[in-house]
Amino acid sequence: MLNRQGRPSAAGEGADVLHPTFTGNRALLIEEALLFETGRVEVTGVDIEEAGAFTPRLGGLERKEPIGLPGFSEPEAMRHFVRLSQKNFGIDTGLFPLGSCTMKHNPRLNEKMARLPGFGDIHPLQPVSTVPGAIELIDRLAHYLKTLTGMPAVAMSPKAGAHGELCGMMAIKAAIAARGEGETRTVVLVPESAHGTNPATAALIGFTVEPIPARPDGTVDPADVRKALGPSVAAIMLTNPNTCGLFEKDVKAIAEAVHEAGAYFYCDGANFNAIVGKVRPGDLGVDAMHINLHKTFSTPHGGGGPGAGPVVLSDKLAPYAPFPFLAEGRLVENESQAPQGTEPFGRLVAFHGQMGMFTRAMAYMLSHGADGMRQASEDAVLSANYIRASLQDLMSAPFGDQPCMHEALFDDSWLKDTGVTTLDFAKAMIDEGYHPMTMYFPLVVHGAMLIEPTESESKASLDLFIATLRDLAMAARRGETERFSGAPYHAPRRRMDETRAARQPILRWTPPEPIKDAAE
Ligand SMILES: *Cc1c(COP(=O)(O)O)cnc(C)c1O
Repeated sequence: MLNRQGRPSAAGEGADVLHPTFTGNRALLIEEALLFETGRVEVTGVDIEEAGAFTPRLGGLERKEPIGLPGFSEPEAMRHFVRLSQKNFGIDTGLFPLGSCTMKHNPRLNEKMARLPGFGDIHPLQPVSTVPGAIELIDRLAHYLKTLTGMPAVAMSPKAGAHGELCGMMAIKAAIAARGEGETRTVVLVPESAHGTNPATAALIGFTVEPIPARPDGTVDPADVRKALGPSVAAIMLTNPNTCGLFEKDVKAIAEAVHEAGAYFYCDGANFNAIVGKVRPGDLGVDAMHINLHKTFSTPHGGGGPGAGPVVLSDKLAPYAPFPFLAEGRLVENESQAPQGTEPFGRLVAFHGQMGMFTRAMAYMLSHGADGMRQASEDAVLSANYIRASLQDLMSAPFGDQPCMHEALFDDSWLKDTGVTTLDFAKAMIDEGYHPMTMYFPLVVHGAMLIEPTESESKASLDLFIATLRDLAMAARRGETERFSGAPYHAPRRRMDETRAARQPILRWTPPEPIKDAAE
């Protein structure tokens, strides 16, 4: 069925909908049209006076026709954007168990602090002398990050985890070049379970990536690392806790072997939420590690932003940290101000980092305190283990014979012969009102389902989530494939052809058919 806009209507799609509606709306679930479909060029919600007489200065290149932008009354424009905002699913609307991404509650207090005029209204091009408070906040936050990680230095400017990886790996590259080994140390070791950004980062700056296999227990064997090490290896990039949700128990032996071979240890710190206040990465022999402030220290994230990825650095790498950086509370912006003994590899970003994220992270740290941050980590790990233990009899957990850290990993061997796939299962979760877990990652287990509940969820909320997944799992085992094969049934849009959407994206909007009268 087509709705008034000539598009497939949500109401008509659902097999369970008895009475398709004229509007395509389902009760108060509004079928939102594009602005270009409903706007009128001649309408505006703003009173703007006609321009007076003027002499064009565009040399005849000025527009001859109206630009054709859709116009609306103020209520229409407001409704459109408010309704769009309501279509968003986030941690504020429900449990968001996306593994490896730490989707946790972001306290409103942090938002309030980030909007204080002294932080929210400053301009990146303002003279540094006019923002001593912001500089002090960055300096204090840097101090806390160094304290929590047990590392001597931190580069604050990277704008995401992946950007932090780039920063840390460029510092490693600079340190190796300074030793005169830039031509020979060209290999970076990356475990097979790593996040895709790790090999991508190494490759982007010219390293060759060599994979390291995982042991049957899901962790990296120092013997495998030793075998791969040699005079051509620049670094290892290791995630800890790793993307199977496991603490790399031999991380110290790995670090020692890496250092003995003259290489550096880059740690992917995206999973720091599991160990804040419990483990200091500096004590494990880490040379560089990014911290996703937007995962571990609040800031709503998703859809590619916003983020901040400060990188803590060891004494060996600190001299190569990029501009701008803080030295004794002073912002060092360029070569002419660089203290003796520093050799920054350059500049990663134009400005001094993400002020809003810094402010939120600071507010998060101060409001939790050291004990509160430790408890958040403990609760995150407890929640994940509660989920693992509560589902393990129905869903196969490949490393389930040991406790996990902050996320519980399941594979699809339990779905064998049911006709239900990991993708089907995830889509059926949408019908139940849950954002799916991370699917098919990490790649080291088949049909992975990675669940990270974080510390945000109450026991009641976890219990309902577990009961829902148990109900779904039993339905799959009973062979109720229909509940899965067409899911989601209740969402505004049904199952998308995601492969086709990626391979043949429709990037151009074409005007819809004229609106037909109901009588026709
Ligand atoms: C999220 C994540 C990254 C990348 O961080 P972004 O901030 O999204 O760029 C890298 N590694 C792991 C393990 C992650 O979970």
